[in-house]
Amino acid sequence: MTDNSSPHTGKTPAGNPRADAIPQWLWRPGDPITFSPLFSFPPRPTAVLSWFARAWLPFTELTLYLLLGIAVWHWLQPPLSETGLPAVEWIAPVWLRNLLLHTTLATLLHLWLYTWRGQGDAFRFRHKAPTALSSLFLGGSQLRDNVFWTLASGVTIWTLYESLMWMALARGMAPTITLAGNPIWFVLWFPLIGVWYSFHFYWVHRFLHWKPMYTRYHAVHHRNVVTGPWSGFSMHPVEHLLYLSSVFIHLIVPSHPVHMLFHLYWLTLATATSHSGYESLLIGNHRSTISTFFHQLHHRHFNCNYGNVELPLDKWFGSFNDGTGKTTTRRTS
Ligand SMILES: [Zn+2]
Ligand SMILES: [Zn+2]
Repeated sequence: MTDNSSPHTGKTPAGNPRADAIPQWLWRPGDPITFSPLFSFPPRPTAVLSWFARAWLPFTELTLYLLLGIAVWHWLQPPLSETGLPAVEWIAPVWLRNLLLHTTLATLLHLWLYTWRGQGDAFRFRHKAPTALSSLFLGGSQLRDNVFWTLASGVTIWTLYESLMWMALARGMAPTITLAGNPIWFVLWFPLIGVWYSFHFYWVHRFLHWKPMYTRYHAVHHRNVVTGPWSGFSMHPVEHLLYLSSVFIHLIVPSHPVHMLFHLYWLTLATATSHSGYESLLIGNHRSTISTFFHQLHHRHFNCNYGNVELPLDKWFGSFNDGTGKTTTRRTS
């Protein structure tokens, strides 16, 4: 029996004595988890600047999504004059592009971390690989199950929402800005998208942990107690519809198409890194942090850490597990 067995029942494993008998962590950060200083009181402007500098400079995962958004907008996306009406001619390439982007990233990560074992166990959270063979999963295989939900549901709904946004932009239904016209907002909006994302994610996620929603829908994602690059975007279609609805903020807040693409890549591609099962990617001597212990704890314990470290919502609402020995095994709510 693998430790992927309990969540599909829709019950949290609180009080399950078996849970504590499972070896905990191969790797975990030495210090308690902390949140971004964005909402610290008294305010800590230097700490806030340093938080954002670490997230964006000199070259990080976020800058990669930004560059990808710029490249797609300039070289791969047809002009808005051609996307006002739904048509296979432009929506099929969007679907194929999204499929290739996610497949490439998740496959390369999976090969490096689990097939080639490129960095051994360095920064690896759990002993087990995200390749369980169990009747819990579609086709009896975690990897097959994860690839199916990711591509069949995830990429399809991502493409649906992206296409709706392209149509809205083409028809003047979404307020737009340019770098030349609004340089300050243009730049500021990128880090603020992360704040919005975190706020939206927390509430959608809490809703998904409401028992009827958990049992019917969110349990598909939580079958993955041990996560891997293909697990992050492995969700039920209802969860994809809710989770990706974050992008519709661009129907209200003035944005450039690159903001919308960046936001979507963060919502989708970053699930492959954030669930990779490794805190950092180690290539040669270069270490790059790709995920947080925070969400690993959510997959391990189910009823803590619903949001992320950008916003201290879990702290404010009493569901924070800081990952230290004592609180790691404490069931929080
Ligand atoms: Zn997750
Ligand atoms: Zn959850």
